[in-house]
Amino acid sequence: MANETFTGKGVNTRLAHLGNDPRGFHGFIHPPVVHASTVLFPDAATMAGRAQKYTYGTHGTPTTDALTAALDALEGSAGTVLTPSGLAAVTVPLLAFLSAGDHVLITDSVYHPTRRFADTVLARMGVEITYYDPLVGAGIAGLMKPNTKVVFTESPASNTFEVQDVPAIAREARARDAVVMMDNTWATPLLFRPLDHGVDISIHALTKYPAGHSDVLLGSVSANERSWGRLHAASEALGNCAAPDDSYQALRGLRTMGVRLARHGEAALDIARWLEGQPGVARVLHPALESFPGHALWKRDFSGSSGIFSIVLAGGGRQEAHAFLDALSIFGLGYSWGGYESLAVHVNLDGRTVGAGSWEGPILRLQIGLEDVADLKADIAAGLAAAAMTRS
Ligand SMILES: *Cc1c(COP(=O)(O)O)cnc(C)c1O
Repeated sequence: MANETFTGKGVNTRLAHLGNDPRGFHGFIHPPVVHASTVLFPDAATMAGRAQKYTYGTHGTPTTDALTAALDALEGSAGTVLTPSGLAAVTVPLLAFLSAGDHVLITDSVYHPTRRFADTVLARMGVEITYYDPLVGAGIAGLMKPNTKVVFTESPASNTFEVQDVPAIAREARARDAVVMMDNTWATPLLFRPLDHGVDISIHALTKYPAGHSDVLLGSVSANERSWGRLHAASEALGNCAAPDDSYQALRGLRTMGVRLARHGEAALDIARWLEGQPGVARVLHPALESFPGHALWKRDFSGSSGIFSIVLAGGGRQEAHAFLDALSIFGLGYSWGGYESLAVHVNLDGRTVGAGSWEGPILRLQIGLEDVADLKADIAAGLAAAAMTRS
């Protein structure tokens, strides 16, 4: 059962079968978890010519190949490299395509560690960085310089969920010969396929929904035909590779990602709609809500929504945010998201420039897990009551 067997099939059918062929390994459903540095060659000539499929652990194993094949099928990409974290899935392609003297355009609402990488490592390398308004759309053309080599997008934005006009940005950027990258972690390849919209490189923190259980750190970078060679070569040159157990776990996670994501998405939207009517909530930042400014773009480009969004409290600051968080008993206080359990965090927008916005009160990000919605609503209601008490 090669991947082609499942072309055109439903997404859950594809998730259940993509990647490895059970008949390729004695009929076992899962691929073997290959722990490897050395791979032996049968003779000197084969070794000298590296004339066999696997040559050394850093270049891939049947375990990592099963995961990258599944991701290529989902993304429609020419090739995928795995990285030891989602953040490394951001830094490897930026290092692959940027050199001293180049200019990079990065959305101002980017995942904060991406900004830190740019402001430290890329700046030290002599790369010029401009943060642009996430809502710039085709206006990106006006920000491009002759040395702009990469345009970096992330949509919806981390924490505040602005929806970018990715097709328009990609069209303008590629017309001027820049490579377009997108951090697609929020949507997974199930809700948005960047390469179908003109993006060259799609980035995922597999840590989130693909792995899905808050116990794995892993990333992926999937490239179209024109970008794959350079991405792959740079990844190899950097010594980038992914661990076998984590790769196995991420492939296992993909098998159930469709049903998990549907449930996360449905529960999150239900809770988001309910929150719109709750006292003490000024705004709900969720792209699938009709009230959200980016809703029309989201509806045009995405086929669904995942399980993370934010609320803006009606007034107050850090004290109210902490009162809300401390009153929660089901939601955990912790970073990351995409696991089965609900999490809440007080959002910090420090560092943003053009896209900082003005907010009525503190922003709280909610990752909606797989618990029962009624229990989660009761927990949030307790948080809102505690915040209101602090305010009065
Ligand atoms: C979490 C996250 C990352 C980084 O993933 P890690 O595996 O935690 O390093 C990158 N981008 C986005 C949008 C994320 O949410």
